[in-house]
Amino acid sequence: RASAKAGYKAGGARPDFVLVSVQDLTEQHRLERMRADFVANASHELRTPLASLTGFVETLQGAARDDPAARERFLAIMLEQASRMGRLIDDLLSLSRIELKVNVRPDARVELGDVVRDVVDALSPLARELDVELQTDLPDEPMMVAGERDELVQVMGNLAENALKYGSSGERVLISCARAAVGRNGSEWRLSVRDWGPGIPAEHLPRLTERFYRVDATASRQMKGTGLGLAIVKHILNRHRARLEVQSEPGHGATFTVCIRAVDEDAPVEPAL
Ligand code: ADP
Repeated sequence: RASAKAGYKAGGARPDFVLVSVQDLTEQHRLERMRADFVANASHELRTPLASLTGFVETLQGAARDDPAARERFLAIMLEQASRMGRLIDDLLSLSRIELKVNVRPDARVELGDVVRDVVDALSPLARELDVELQTDLPDEPMMVAGERDELVQVMGNLAENALKYGSSGERVLISCARAAVGRNGSEWRLSVRDWGPGIPAEHLPRLTERFYRVDATASRQMKGTGLGLAIVKHILNRHRARLEVQSEPGHGATFTVCIRAVDEDAPVEPAL
């Protein structure tokens, strides 16, 4: 849609200036729609544990008042619902913090081996609990990129945590990295997280990074998922001008690969855009 405005000098018949503004209203409507859907989804996701909490409080005030065993059980469920709300709020805040920075290109020098080590340290207890072996296979040379370390740790952490959660117990998860040529003299690091779980049917792959999208909502809830992990990954990678590739053959596991431009160890980092 285009809108026009004209300015006249006092008494003049001809306009002194004409201002025409053309906006892409379809794009604007689409964005507004997405925002409205997001708020509706987020509210729904928060309402569900809240309703459960309220229900249990009422039960504890009434029928379960004099039943210590039921009380213990209900309190444990209430604690779990409260932590679920906490995780949702943390992920929503992460998303909005990253969105605010979307046009600021991160330019600190980060070594991907350090990122992977942080992630392995943080996830070892979960790997033990789920009986999955968390392995790494990284090159000897430093894997330098321009980025923000905490955000890259969050990306690899989310991918590795998913591989542990949705992979198979008794199996392993492998984080590996290889260098690939890009253009004439550039190269990128391809950092992969592979699991040997049930994998993801092809029709779901394009939608995985949508907010609150889950292949199997029950399994995701059981695994304490919020449905926001991969949306956060996508936003952080956009900011890093990096991309995510997903491959999966159902029954044979899934591989999530982060492709990010390599920088020389001592070359100056490109100026921020
Ligand atoms: P969640 O918090 O539910 O884990 P994510 O955004 O991290 O949300 O992932 C979205 C969905 O993608 C998950 O709910 C799960 O269904 C699917 N998924 C992600 N990683 C894997 C994987 N390695 N194997 C199988 N399914 C996966």
